[in-house]
Amino acid sequence: EVACVYRRSRSEMPANPHEVVQADEEGVKFELLTAPVGFVGEGGKVTGIKCVKMQLGEPDASGRRRPEPVPGSDFVVPADLVITAVGQKTDSSSLGGKIGLNKWNDIDVSKTMMTNVEGVFSAGDCQTGAATVVEAVGGARKAAVAMDQYLRGEAVVGITEPFNVARGKSIKEVDPAYLGDREKAARAKVPTIAPDERKHNFGEFELVFPADVAKKEAMRCLSCSCLDVNTCKLRQYSTDYKADLNRLGTGDYNHPILTDHPFITRDPNKCVLCANCVRICNEVMDVTALGLVNRGSETVVLPTLMRPLADTKCETCGQCISACPTGALLVKPALPKPGPFKTEAVATACPNCSIG
Ligand code: SF4
Ligand code: SF4
Ligand code: SF4
Repeated sequence: EVACVYRRSRSEMPANPHEVVQADEEGVKFELLTAPVGFVGEGGKVTGIKCVKMQLGEPDASGRRRPEPVPGSDFVVPADLVITAVGQKTDSSSLGGKIGLNKWNDIDVSKTMMTNVEGVFSAGDCQTGAATVVEAVGGARKAAVAMDQYLRGEAVVGITEPFNVARGKSIKEVDPAYLGDREKAARAKVPTIAPDERKHNFGEFELVFPADVAKKEAMRCLSCSCLDVNTCKLRQYSTDYKADLNRLGTGDYNHPILTDHPFITRDPNKCVLCANCVRICNEVMDVTALGLVNRGSETVVLPTLMRPLADTKCETCGQCISACPTGALLVKPALPKPGPFKTEAVATACPNCSIG
């Protein structure tokens, strides 16, 4: 029988909710609002945990209600094995006192991930404190870039964070209209070994999705990223010139994305009104399928007589897409989940017209 003694209530548990549910399924008994205060033992062996009942008071600095002992509520939870799970910390004893530590006793680094010792870099839990694998990999990537600069004898400036802009800090902040055409589908449940079986071994208990479920799950991707993210000149210049989004704000455009042409997608929200597309269509292709409509901040690029682009004289030459510095004009993606992927240019012949 396994018991988990925790001084707050279930809703304050810092564990992932699904881990608590899985422990429940495996028969773990939760002694909630209970704080361990000592151990009792006999003949050098533990026989129980001395506990005191708690009640929740006012919220503390973490925002969770502070547990306070209930006077006279001491009792003993019988036990023959106790595991104290009181957090994780970096064991810095192997560093010989040479590497600087921060106030949490983790390795202190500059923004290039270099420690106070020149040529020694650090990343991962020993530098951030307990965190995720993804954060450790991200830190290692930053450190690798700076190490490369160091070993090449270049100035160690670390990684240049690319300029990014989003419609919200999380999906909850994004206007639902923006992703309104995406089908809503609930997450599939990961199959697991039955609780009675898994509680007797330490093997991997989460199984893999069958192929059809895995494909369905992949199709739930919202494809929320901009397909031009790897080639957008606006993003490149914004990165190079360290554009500050807070200086002028981001505006609040919500133009519909236009997919009426069989090969071209237009997203006026990303248009910077450079007029490259209008000029190349008019001055190079001599087609004049596009024009600038309205004035000032209301200006938009629209096809002739505001008709669908496919109903104009557009020859689908793609020159406007090549000339567009942003993701406002794109080749319509052929894949149901189009990326963005980093692509390479290869010589090819388009069979769409007789010119080839
Ligand atoms: S592109 Fe797809 S997988 Fe990536 S964050 Fe957006 S929805 Fe999620
Ligand atoms: S694809 Fe060619 S013809 Fe059509 S709008 Fe663009 S530049 Fe003009
Ligand atoms: S080339 Fe692109 S960014 Fe420039 S006006 Fe045309 S659609 Fe807008």
